[in-house]
Amino acid sequence: MRMVVLPGDGIGPEITKATTHVLKAASEHFQLGVTVEEHPVGHESLKKFGTTVQPGLLETVRSADGLILGPTATFDFKDEQNGEINPSKYFRKNLDLFANVRPARTYPGLRNPLGDFDLVVVRENTEGFYADRNMEQGNGEILVTSDVVISLRRITRLCCERIAKSACQLAMRRKKHLTIVHKANVLKIGDGMFLDICRETAKGFPGLVVDDILVDAMMAHVVRNPARFDVIVSTNMFGDILSDLTAELSGSLGLGGSLNVGVSHAMAQAAHGSAPDIAGRDVANPFSLILSMALLLTWHGERIGAPRFAEAARAVEGAVASAIETGRATTDVGGKLGTAATGQAVVEILTSASSH
Ligand code: NAD
Repeated sequence: MRMVVLPGDGIGPEITKATTHVLKAASEHFQLGVTVEEHPVGHESLKKFGTTVQPGLLETVRSADGLILGPTATFDFKDEQNGEINPSKYFRKNLDLFANVRPARTYPGLRNPLGDFDLVVVRENTEGFYADRNMEQGNGEILVTSDVVISLRRITRLCCERIAKSACQLAMRRKKHLTIVHKANVLKIGDGMFLDICRETAKGFPGLVVDDILVDAMMAHVVRNPARFDVIVSTNMFGDILSDLTAELSGSLGLGGSLNVGVSHAMAQAAHGSAPDIAGRDVANPFSLILSMALLLTWHGERIGAPRFAEAARAVEGAVASAIETGRATTDVGGKLGTAATGQAVVEILTSASSH
């Protein structure tokens, strides 16, 4: 498996280093034959090449089997004409990574005042309120006068259909329960279409239990009783916000794994950002990116019909859970270790497992 790794900004280099360490150990232990090649992205690339995403990088990524993208300082990148491209948007759009899959679960040994839960947020990833990716050319945010801004939200039948199908398929492999989160009471046409398509698609999956909740009410429901949810499907921005909440409810935003999936490409990305407030201090939690990398291994294994990749991914997830339970983790999840030592702890747990 040829893996491209782009470390990114802020805590990106620290957590990608820990993730790559775990990836290489998993590859060796499970004989996955993973090769890793690293390229700069974000500020480092901007300094070196005058653009946050250097020319040719898309082709490099396209020809690889998987991409691990560290968080980047997207808030800093304002002028695409001057090379300030949002790398996350760039790869999602150009590789058509339409589904963002974000699992959230509680872990033994970690505070979970809301009780145990295990759910997945499936978020549409290519349109919606994210105006910067909605247009064939130019940006969907328009400065009408210096005091008036219009931001375009795009919802298409195709994108609704494919995200609905992905969510239904995932739910059928889990507890067969799908919750559609929307705001069709206000966004009657756009979210109305999203809701109708999700309900219609779900009819093609016998045995699937389907309900729907307005996004504002969902914030209360998921905090009140997260255990009642299995797979949650939503449009882009609602799913983004909701999945940060579910990651934090599981113990820390630093636990939020995330996989961006298309038809023939996938990109592992932490659910959180570049956390400049803690960058360079060896305190960032690397679990989010490590868990995202595990999701990518599973995806690749299914694609090429090699079950050992899923086996390796399960072992990585188990090693993370064990590291949390035994306190060999960063402070945000109750441990005392730094970022690098936490990565090392996962490697030691992973490679000390007697059988695979
Ligand atoms: P953030 O997610 O970076 O940080 C929010 C809070 O969570 C901070 O207090 C941070 O210290 C903490 N945190 C985040 N990740 C953590 C980890 N792994 N371990 C421990 N604590 C962690 O959000 P922000 O501060 O609003 O954004 C910072 C930058 O990241 C901005 O430029 C933003 O645009 C960008 N961003 C990038 C992505 C991405 O690349 N996918 C996603 C979201 C935000």
